[in-house]
Amino acid sequence: RALNFNAGPAALPEAVLAKAKKEMMNYQDLGMGVMELSHRSKQFEAINDRTQSLLRLLLNIPDDYEVLFLQGGASLQFTMVPMNLLEEGSTASYVLTGAWSEKALKEAQKIGSATAIASSKSTNYKSIPSLSEINGKPDSSYLHITTNNTIYGTQWHQFPEKINVPLVADMSSDILSRPIHVSSYGLIYAGAQKNLGPSGVTVVIINKQLLKRSRPDLPAMLNYQVQADSNSLYNTPPTLSVYFLMLVLEWAESIGGVQQLERMNQQKAAMLYDAIDRSNGFYKGHAEKDSRSLMNINFTLADDDLSASFLHEAEELGFIGLAGHRSVGGCRASIYNAVPLEHVEQLAKFMNDFRLRN
Ligand code: PLP
Repeated sequence: RALNFNAGPAALPEAVLAKAKKEMMNYQDLGMGVMELSHRSKQFEAINDRTQSLLRLLLNIPDDYEVLFLQGGASLQFTMVPMNLLEEGSTASYVLTGAWSEKALKEAQKIGSATAIASSKSTNYKSIPSLSEINGKPDSSYLHITTNNTIYGTQWHQFPEKINVPLVADMSSDILSRPIHVSSYGLIYAGAQKNLGPSGVTVVIINKQLLKRSRPDLPAMLNYQVQADSNSLYNTPPTLSVYFLMLVLEWAESIGGVQQLERMNQQKAAMLYDAIDRSNGFYKGHAEKDSRSLMNINFTLADDDLSASFLHEAEELGFIGLAGHRSVGGCRASIYNAVPLEHVEQLAKFMNDFRLRN
C-alpha cells in the first residue's frame, strides 16, 4: 500500500477495497457487480437503508433528524444551506476559519444576506476565533462553522454555546473522526471523500424541524424536503459511492466506532506534532497549539530552501500527498481515519531522520 497522505480523495481502509473488489464483479451472487444494480432494486434499497442506519448508529443521530445522501459535493451545500435555511428579511452568520468557510460565505451572499461575525483571517487562519466572540451574538437564520479547516490544519475543539439559532457545520474533513453531539446542530454536511469513502456522495444530517424551512418553490434537486421525502432516491443516486460509504461505516463499526477512531487519531496526530515540537524550530507547525487539527498536520521548514528537498526525498521514499495546498504552500500530512498508524510512524521517523541529516 502506498504511504498516502492525500487531503482528499484520500486513503480508504484496505479491508474496504478488498471487499469491494469481489463485489464489483459479483454482488450477492446475482451475477452482476454492485454498480450494475438498479437504484430501484431491493438490493440497492437495502444498501441505502443500511448505510443510513450505520451512520445513525455510529454518530448517535437522534430520530428527529433526517440523513440525506446528496450529490454536488460540500460545495453545493454552500448554496443549498442558504437556499433552504435563510429566512426572508433575515441574515445568515458565518465564522471564517479558512478558505472553505470563505467560499461558503461567498456563495451564501449570492442567495441573500450573510455576514462574517468572527474571523481569524488577520492571523492567517492559525487558530479558531475565541468563543467569547461568538457566543450569544448572532441574531440570524443560522450560524455556520467549518469544524476542521483542511487547508490550514486547524480544528474546533470547543463549540459555540447559548446561541439561539441553528448551528450549521461543514464537517467535510473531520466527520466520523470523533464523537459529536448531533442535537447541538441544526444541520451537518460533509463530502465523503476524506473520512467516509470515495467522492460522489455528500452526507447531510438535518433536524426535522429545520426541514420545514425548505420552500416548495425551490428547485426540487436543491430542496432538502424533497430529498428527505424520497429517502435520497429522488433521482438516480451515486450508487457506487453510497455502497462504498456503507463499507467504510461497516469498517468503522468493526474497529470500535468513533470513540476508538478518536483514540487512534489522537495517537497518530501526536506522533507528527511531537516530531514538530521536538525539532527545536527545524519544523514549524502552522496552527496554534489549542487549535491543532487531528486530521491535517500543516508545517513548514524553518529553512525554506530545505522544503523542496524534504518533499523531494519524501516522494522518493514513497510518501504521497505531502505538499501543502497550492494556496498556502509548505507541507501537509492528512491523516484521516483510514491512514494506518504504521504509515504515520514511518512519516514521523522520516521527519526525524531528515532533521538529523540537515
Ligand atoms: N469543505 C471542506 C472543509 C473541505 O475540505 C472541502 C474540500 O476539500 C470542501 C468543503 C469542498 O468539498 P467538495 O470538493 O466536496 O465540494
